[in-house]
Amino acid sequence: MPLLKCPDCGGAVSTAAESCPHCGRPMTGTQDIVGGRRVQTVEKTAKKFKGWILGGTLAFFAGGILTVTGLCYMNTDSDSLGRKLLVVGVVVLASGLIAGAVAQALAWWHHG
Ligand SMILES: [Zn+2]
Repeated sequence: MPLLKCPDCGGAVSTAAESCPHCGRPMTGTQDIVGGRRVQTVEKTAKKFKGWILGGTLAFFAGGILTVTGLCYMNTDSDSLGRKLLVVGVVVLASGLIAGAVAQALAWWHHG
């Protein structure tokens, strides 16, 4: 296991150690902590978009099911019900697509 020199006390510290066993100095380093914070922020932002993408996907599938069900009812005794289901299905499906696409675009915009 490679050893690092503690910047504070000069003692040998394993690279796997989270802190110096001699003086207790955290060994993750300032750079890593800043990087960790940045990653957390990105993940938080991404979660918001993930919610939108998830919601959009769910709406897309729900709308798809409604559309297909509506199509099945078309030209049957429940023709008017079929048309209503079809319209609602298409609207829900389109909303899901738009929500998902907007979230994807925003996520792309925010994360470059
Ligand atoms: Zn130390």
